[in-house]
Amino acid sequence: MVGIGRLEFTENLKNILTHEVIMAVPKRKTSKMKKRLRRASHRRPLPKVGVCSACGDPALPHRVCSSCGQYNGRQVLTVSVDD
Ligand SMILES: [Zn+2]
Repeated sequence: MVGIGRLEFTENLKNILTHEVIMAVPKRKTSKMKKRLRRASHRRPLPKVGVCSACGDPALPHRVCSSCGQYNGRQVLTVSVDD
């Protein structure tokens, strides 16, 4: 032990044995309002629904229309009509 005093050594040993670790601790309990305000932004937004340019039915953007099977003005899928 070079450069470390007996007292310092025993303090370090005590810290190791008792697992005393210095860490950041919140000063106050987070209130219900603060918690709820924070979590209000965690909600997943609903997908935007557009209108198909070919048939006018509601369709998800950048996806083939499930009603008529068209995408960007051309037929991509053959949609069977069941009644
Ligand atoms: Zn369509």
